[in-house]
Amino acid sequence: AKQPVRVLVTGAAGQIGYALVPMIARGVMLGPDQPVILHMLDIAPAAEALNGVKMELVDAAFPLLKGVVATTDVVEACTEVNIAVMVGGFPRKEGMERKDVMSKNVAIYKSQASALEKHAAANCKVLVVANPANTNALILKEFAPSIPEKNISCLTRLDHNRALGQVSERLNVPVSDVKNVIIWGNHSSTQYPDVNHASVKTPAGEKPVRALVANDEWLHGEFITTVQQRGAAIIKARKLSSALSAASSACDHIRDWVLGTPEGTWVSMGVYSDGSYNVPAGLIYSFPVTCRNGEWTIVQGLPIDALSRKKLDLTAEELTEEKELAYSCLS
Ligand code: NDP
Repeated sequence: AKQPVRVLVTGAAGQIGYALVPMIARGVMLGPDQPVILHMLDIAPAAEALNGVKMELVDAAFPLLKGVVATTDVVEACTEVNIAVMVGGFPRKEGMERKDVMSKNVAIYKSQASALEKHAAANCKVLVVANPANTNALILKEFAPSIPEKNISCLTRLDHNRALGQVSERLNVPVSDVKNVIIWGNHSSTQYPDVNHASVKTPAGEKPVRALVANDEWLHGEFITTVQQRGAAIIKARKLSSALSAASSACDHIRDWVLGTPEGTWVSMGVYSDGSYNVPAGLIYSFPVTCRNGEWTIVQGLPIDALSRKKLDLTAEELTEEKELAYSCLS
C-alpha cells in the first residue's frame, strides 16, 4: 500500500478551503489510490470554524483520509508536509491601500516560508493561491531559500480553465476537446489569456481555435475580458467568491504537476521565470508548461505576434512593480 502524502492547506476554514479539503480527501488532487493526511492551518479567530471542518471530514468517512491535523500553529501545520497549498491571506478591505494589503501578506508569507523551510518534507511542492498570488509566491521563495525555485508556484490554472470553458461554450464543443490555451503573466486583470496556439479535437482531426472561431473581434475583445473579469462576475452573481472552481483548479494544478500532463497538452502555471519569452528572470510569471516526473518545463519556441508581445510585457511590468512594492514592505 502507498504511504500517505501529507497535504497542507492554509486558510482552511475559509471559502476555498472548505471546497478544497473534501476534494483532496476524495483523491481528486493526488489520485484515487493515494492515501492522504490533511494538515489544516488557520488563524486563531477561525479556530472554532476550523474544528468544525475537521468534524465534517471525520463524518464524511473518506476512505483515503488517514489523518487530520487542524491547528493554528504554523510549525505544527508545516511539519513533514509533502504538498503545501497556500490559500490563507489577508483580503483587501474597502479603503485599504494596495501597499497595506501587500505588507500584511508579505508578513504572512515570510513567516510561513520560514516554517516550511525548517519543517516541511524534503522536496515539498508549494502552490500559492492567495492574492497577490504571484508576488506572495516570490516572497515565499525569498524566505525559504533551501526550497528549490522549481518547487514554488502560483495558481493561474483557474484562469486557464476559464479560457477553456469560454472556447467550449463559444464553439459548442465539450471542454475536454479543447486544449493548449495559455495564461501569461500575473493572476490579475493584466493577465493575457492567449488562444493563438489552442486547438479543438474534431471528427476531422485537431483544428486551431483561431480557425474555428474565425471572429477576431470576439477573440481579441470579449473572450479576453470575460476571462479576466470572471471572478468579479461570480461574486456579483453569488455574492460570494468563486471557491468551487478555485478549489477544483488547485487540484488540477497539483495533479498535473505530480502525475504529469497528457502527451501533446500543456497547462498554465505561475513559475519562476528563467527569462523564457523575454520575460524578466526572477519574477513568478504564468507560462505554458508540461509536467513529467514531478517537474514542470516551460514550453519553448511558440511564436509570439506583436499584439501578444505587448500583452506579455504589460503583465510583466505589473509584476515588476508588485515585486518592488513587496520588497519595499520588507525593509
Ligand atoms: P477565500 O477562501 O475565498 O480566498 C482565499 C484567498 O484566495 C484570497 O486571498 C483570495 O483572493 C484568493 N483567491 C485566488 N483566486 C481566487 C478565486 N478565484 N476566487 C476566490 N478567491 C481567490 O477567502 P476566505 O476569506 O473565505 O478565507 C481565507 C482564510 O484565510 C480564512 O479562513 C482566514 O481565517 C484565513 N486567513 C489567514 C491569515 C494568515 O494566515 N495569517 C490572514 C488572514 C486570513 P482575493 O482576496 O483577491 O479574493
